[in-house]
Amino acid sequence: FTGTDLVVVGAGFFGLTVAERVAEELGRTVVVLERRGHIGGNAYSETEPRSGIEVHRYGSHLFHTANPRVWSYANRFTEFSEYVHQVWTVHDERVYPMPVNLATICGFFDRRLTPLQARALIAEQAAEYDPRTADNLESKAISLIGRPLYEAFVRNYTRKQWQTDPTRLPAEVITRLPVRYTFDNRYFDDPHQGLPLDGYTAWLTRLADHPRIEVRLDTDFETVRNDIPAGTPVVHSGPIDRYFHYREGELTWRTLDFETEVLDEGDHQGTAVLNYADSSVPFTRVHEFRHLHPERNYRTDRTVVMREYSRFAERGDEPYYPVATAADRARLLRYRTLAARERDVYFGGRLGSYRYLDMHMAIASALSLYANQLAPRWCARPDPA
Ligand code: FAD
Repeated sequence: FTGTDLVVVGAGFFGLTVAERVAEELGRTVVVLERRGHIGGNAYSETEPRSGIEVHRYGSHLFHTANPRVWSYANRFTEFSEYVHQVWTVHDERVYPMPVNLATICGFFDRRLTPLQARALIAEQAAEYDPRTADNLESKAISLIGRPLYEAFVRNYTRKQWQTDPTRLPAEVITRLPVRYTFDNRYFDDPHQGLPLDGYTAWLTRLADHPRIEVRLDTDFETVRNDIPAGTPVVHSGPIDRYFHYREGELTWRTLDFETEVLDEGDHQGTAVLNYADSSVPFTRVHEFRHLHPERNYRTDRTVVMREYSRFAERGDEPYYPVATAADRARLLRYRTLAARERDVYFGGRLGSYRYLDMHMAIASALSLYANQLAPRWCARPDPA
């Protein structure tokens, strides 16, 4: 680490954005340590060789943001396609658009309803519980969308995600369940969305491609932390509990198992992401990556599908979504106290903050860390992006 001005742990969007800013704007040398054999964190994608189709190894990643600063920063490193994400869900052998909208409601109740009629119907069905006093996920969900839609689209899907009955999950797991009383079935309503034209890994590679940035793959911070000279600042986007050797106990996560298959057919499901709401199907959703890039000339006799299964993570599994029970939140506070005492170490990103972050949020928070803490450290005039 001789001559290194900053060590960044993790080569995901958070770590690489910090590294790029510090190298480019402050002229400092940055070493990025990455435990995996590739950059990009969970946004990593690769070409499946038998089909030529870009596969997102850790599940479909859709870029969307309402933050103009993040959008303009992202556009420096990639162009975006016009892709607009839509999701469908299979229930009882019928297919419905998600999130719940007027088409879902009309299809499910098998009649034409105006927005006003649909609102009245859902309000009547939701009156079974008061959202302010609902004390578990089931009663909270029913208070938001009513029992029939809850039982069709939420109950079994949630059971599969959490392997726990929704009556035994805390109400806070859902703060809102979006219902649109229009036929708009765009999944995201952010003003900017699209997919990187030449793929996520190309975008992330350009982010890391700087003469003052060195990325060391297959390198776990834990194995080299004693080699880093005292006083060298570290930006840590790995798990905060692991950094402190689980001194306050382990934070709990859900993980995903993915089952990928190349099929000798041109189109398997007609869309990028199909959810399965029923308990008779063990997976939660199926991704079919060719549909993320209709603008590409993919071959038409093969396709790649990926089935997604969800379960609680054990040590050694990839942590994906924070479970955030009351015990986790108490533990996290204790870790934050320890983190505040740690000199020259900045925690951030999904794992370092124990928060689910979309890509645009990880980038935004990296730009803020750079502008508010790292640039002032070197007495520079901060230029966030
Ligand atoms: P990560 O991408 O997790 O990167 C952290 C990196 O740190 C990893 O590469 C890890 O290997 C490395 N690391 C950890 N510990 C160490 C260590 N000790 N030493 C060295 N390296 C270490 N976002 C969206 O905007 N749209 C989506 O559609 C979307 N879909 C998602 C689907 C799934 C299944 C998941 C899990 C996430 C999804 N996200 C999506 C979120 C997106 O992946 C995150 O925003 C992004 O990963 C956050 O970036 P990060 O850099 O904080 O974390």
